[in-house]
Amino acid sequence: MILIGLGANLNGIYGAPEQCLKACSDLLAGAGIYIVKSSNIWKSAPVPVSDQPWYCNAVCAVETVLSPPQLLCALATIENDTGRERHEANAARVLDLDILSYNDEIINEAHLTVPHPALHERAFVLYPMQEIAPHWVHPRLDKSVDEMIVNMPKGQEIQCIENSQLLSTYMDKQGAS
Ligand code: ADP
Ligand code: MG
Repeated sequence: MILIGLGANLNGIYGAPEQCLKACSDLLAGAGIYIVKSSNIWKSAPVPVSDQPWYCNAVCAVETVLSPPQLLCALATIENDTGRERHEANAARVLDLDILSYNDEIINEAHLTVPHPALHERAFVLYPMQEIAPHWVHPRLDKSVDEMIVNMPKGQEIQCIENSQLLSTYMDKQGAS
């Protein structure tokens, strides 16, 4: 299962963060990355705690023939096209697209760590992931999503926006054919 984490907390060319995440189904499909399942959008307090605006986050399962480095490159291009500027780590951003998992692969390259190195600590990844991939097991830690939720750092503020799943262009196209 290839899982992508989406996050945004600044307005950009697609409008508010929630609109930017919703635009991602088409932006990803344009790069050959097709959403097959989407979590709801979740609103979360910045991690680490700061006075930045709250984030909108989601997790999507995707299908693509892109290899992990090709996928990382395609995601960075989409981030840049939305007007993302790169500042210090954890700076506010118009759009963040992370590779959370790539099937059961474990990758430790200079510019790419898979599964994403902070996945197991972040409520804004684990709760959306629980919605769409409850049976996923972290291939390096050998932990289920539920186990990681029990063990993640406490006190992370997060709220689900009901019925806010990202549209799946891929499923629409399948249905239309
Ligand atoms: P973060 O997502 O950690 O807040 P950035 O989006 O600024 O930070 O990413 C910084 C770098 O993280 C990227 O240039 C990329 O090379 C690297 N990176 C390592 N592993 C991953 C991954 N699994 N998904 C996305 N980026 C990754
Ligand atoms: Mg990132």
